[in-house]
Amino acid sequence: GLLGGAPAQAPAAELPYRNAALPVDERVEDLLGRMTLDDKLGQMTQADRSALDPQSDIATYRLGSVLSGGGSAPAQNTAEGWADMYDAYQRTALSTPLGIPLLYGVDAVHGHNNVRGATIFPHNIGLGATGDPELVERIGAATAEEVAGTGVDWDFAPCLCVARNDRWGRTYESFGEVPELPTAMTTLITGLQGETLGSGPASVLATAKHYLGDGGTEGGVDQGDTRLSEAELRAVHLPPFREAVARGVGSVMVSYSSWNGEKVHGSAYLINGLLKEELGFDGFVVSDWGAIDQLDGSPGFTGAEIAQGINAGLDMIMVPYEYREFLSLLRQEVQAGRIPMERIDDANRRILTKKFELGLFEHPYTDRSLTGTVGSAAHRELARQAVRESQVLLKNEGGVLPLDPGARVFVAGKSADDIGNQSGGWTISWQGGSGEVTPGTTILDGIRAAALDPARVAYDREGEGVDGSYDVAVAVVGETPYAEGAGDRPGGLGLDQEDLDTLGRLRASGVPVVVVLVSGRPLDVAGPLADWDALLAAWLPGTEGAGVADVLYGAYPPTGRLPVTWPASASQEPINEGDGQQPLFPLGYGLGYGAAD
Ligand code: BGC
Repeated sequence: GLLGGAPAQAPAAELPYRNAALPVDERVEDLLGRMTLDDKLGQMTQADRSALDPQSDIATYRLGSVLSGGGSAPAQNTAEGWADMYDAYQRTALSTPLGIPLLYGVDAVHGHNNVRGATIFPHNIGLGATGDPELVERIGAATAEEVAGTGVDWDFAPCLCVARNDRWGRTYESFGEVPELPTAMTTLITGLQGETLGSGPASVLATAKHYLGDGGTEGGVDQGDTRLSEAELRAVHLPPFREAVARGVGSVMVSYSSWNGEKVHGSAYLINGLLKEELGFDGFVVSDWGAIDQLDGSPGFTGAEIAQGINAGLDMIMVPYEYREFLSLLRQEVQAGRIPMERIDDANRRILTKKFELGLFEHPYTDRSLTGTVGSAAHRELARQAVRESQVLLKNEGGVLPLDPGARVFVAGKSADDIGNQSGGWTISWQGGSGEVTPGTTILDGIRAAALDPARVAYDREGEGVDGSYDVAVAVVGETPYAEGAGDRPGGLGLDQEDLDTLGRLRASGVPVVVVLVSGRPLDVAGPLADWDALLAAWLPGTEGAGVADVLYGAYPPTGRLPVTWPASASQEPINEGDGQQPLFPLGYGLGYGAAD
């Protein structure tokens, strides 16, 4: 039965699997030999915390992992609140006969973004623009400290998608449209995990996602179909995963998308064959959220879908809600011989190996000495540097930039004074949201701080009241937050009416207009661009808006380079380097302030 663990032969502390002096593989084999079938099936099951009812189900069902999907946070959304929640869940997991610790997973995809007060770094598209893998590695390490400071041991990052169509709602999760960029930025993995998993005080299990071809779907449709020859799939989408494996990434998450009509989640060729055998990936493979339900095209999961996915190479299933039903179906499939016991043991070995390597058996609870790093001044300074390095200057007529610190500046636009907009999706909640979602410095705050006299900086969101007495107007416009398919734009990629109205007011005043674009991707600006004096792509900078002002005022020159091709019109999508189309700005474009520019 569920609660009948194998009887311990020796006092718990002396069991080989508990002996940190033994090699990990010996500990794994010892533990595996003591586990019941239900212990093993539980290890392969990941539930969302919001579905745990009661919380003791972690022990009853021997769950191997819990996640906070969609940003689901403890009632008290502070670093301490998270650490208390994590420790309570861990205590429950350790109350089982074998006391196997839990892995707790979150999407910390630009800093520890579910936690109020955490440092929010630029989204990946901005990090791709920095061209600075070493900076990205330091961001990984800072993120690991904040994540570990709340107890959490597993981060579903980095997204290594190669975004080939800007209509896709996850374009901003991509480091760039060519494989070289995400491949270079796999340094985030080393930052998160340390040189090896468990090395250093803050080592968090990283996840290379979403394997394979998530950024290549037809029409840029999220969870869609990537129709490519095998040679093209390997040339464009595989290189970042090859590098991630070489860097020792501990887990890989499979993509919701299909390859030539076949769901990747059910593909033994791609998971068992290409990832595990050919690339030699020896960590564990996790499904995406509820993706096991999608294998047969009808809602909900069946035993057949579970067997297909696990036999194809999935080691852990992100169920995430109906873990009881899942476990009983999984048990039936195993008992009927439709999933071989060797496959179950292999999945368990892979998962348990990472738990041992992380040191979870020795240090299962939150290291509270790290909790104070959440949102620390040092991490915010690192984020500000990343913001600076991510700015891409696309136009600068008549040298309107850099701004003179003594100039009279009129600031406008819906994203000038909005932490939520500048942080984008995956910030506090899954979709993100406008407004004061978490503490930080807005771009307007940064401009006021950079000006010699803050009284010479005026602000009106809509651009009302602007007149010729100003030296320059700065319009901060672009996209409001979204995540995943909600951000797909099968139609245009133009500015919204509010932005166009604001820009129209500024233009009518006759003052030079600097446009700062806060967006997760290139927008359709070819027409309006003729009216603007300068255009700066700020991407989704996160909580440290002062980094944008650093560049506007020339404290740091713009050094960012486009990580994606910027279309002249959305009708060119998909548009990528080398495809023969004439873009507005090519991949790698970016001006500086030097005379040569
Ligand atoms: C996303 C993943 C994410 C998972 C867990 C899914 O909807 O596709 O990127 O890691 O949710 O939150």
